[in-house]
Amino acid sequence: MRFEGQIAVITGAGSGIGEATAQRMAKEGARVILVGRTKEKLVQAASAIDTRCERKCTDIFSADVTKEEDVKELAEFIKEKYGQIHLLINNAGGSVNSTIKETTLEQWKHVQDVNLTSVFLVTKHLIPFLTEEIGGNRSIVNIASLSGHKAGAQIPHYSAAKAGLINFTKAMAFELAPHGVRVNSVSPGFVETPLTQPGLENERFTKAIEQNTALKRVGKPDEIANVIAFAASEEASYMTGSDLLVDGGWLIV
Ligand code: NAP
Repeated sequence: MRFEGQIAVITGAGSGIGEATAQRMAKEGARVILVGRTKEKLVQAASAIDTRCERKCTDIFSADVTKEEDVKELAEFIKEKYGQIHLLINNAGGSVNSTIKETTLEQWKHVQDVNLTSVFLVTKHLIPFLTEEIGGNRSIVNIASLSGHKAGAQIPHYSAAKAGLINFTKAMAFELAPHGVRVNSVSPGFVETPLTQPGLENERFTKAIEQNTALKRVGKPDEIANVIAFAASEEASYMTGSDLLVDGGWLIV
C-alpha cells in the first residue's frame, strides 16, 4: 500500500500503459484521477479499477491535454474537489509513422503537442497542487520512450519529442527539487497496447521486434506500470532527474 491516502492524476489513463498504471496505483491505496479525451474509455477503465479495489477509488476528467483551456479546467476541477495532489503521471502520447519527406508541418506540430507540449501544460497548471504544505512523497513521472534514446524508422517527430521530454524531465527535477517534488521519466521499449496493436497484427513486424529485443518478446503494460509506480513512490526517494529504460534489453542488442 505504497500510495495509501495519496491522490494521483494520470493522463492517457483510458487504455494501455496509463490504465495499467492507474490500476497498480489504486491497488496500492491511491485515489486515481483518470484523464483522457474519450469519456467512454475513462468510464470503463474507472469501473474496472473500482471493482478490483472494492471501493470507489477513481475519478475521471475528460480533457485534451494539448489544449490549455482543457488543462485549466482540469486544474479548476482539482482545486474545487481535492485542493491538492501527490502524484502526477504524464502518460498521454502517441505517434503516426512517416518519414521526414512525408511528414507535414501539421503532423510534426501535432506529435510535439501530444508528447511534449502537453507535459509542459499539465505540469505548469497542476504543480500548484503538489504543494509544500502536504509534505511527504510528491512526485511526477513522465512517460518518454526508447525512441527518445535511439533512432526508430519513420518516427523523426516522435523521437525528437520524446528526447525533448527526457531533458524537460531533468529541467523540472532541478527546478522542483527545492520544493520537495521529484521528477523522473520512464522510457518503455515495445509494449503491447492499442497504440502498437496495428503493428503487432503484422507477424513479420512482431518477429522483427522480438529479434531486436534481448528478452525476445514484446512488453506488457503491467511491466511498465510497475516501474512507473516505483518511480512515483517513496521507495525512489533519492531518485530525481533520472530516466528509467524498460525496454526488454533492446538497447543492448
Ligand atoms: P495508448 O493505449 O494509445 O494510450 C495513450 C492514451 O493517451 C490513450 O488512452 C488516449 O486516449 C490518450 N491521449 C492521446 N492523446 C491525448 C490528448 N491529446 N489528451 C488526452 N489524452 C490523450 O498507448 P500506450 O502505448 O499506452 O501509450 C502510453 C504512453 O507510452 C505514450 O506516451 C506513448 O508514447 C508511450 N510509449 C508507448 C510505447 C508502446 O510500445 N506502447 C513505447 C514507448 C512509449 P484518448 O484518445 O481517449 O484521449
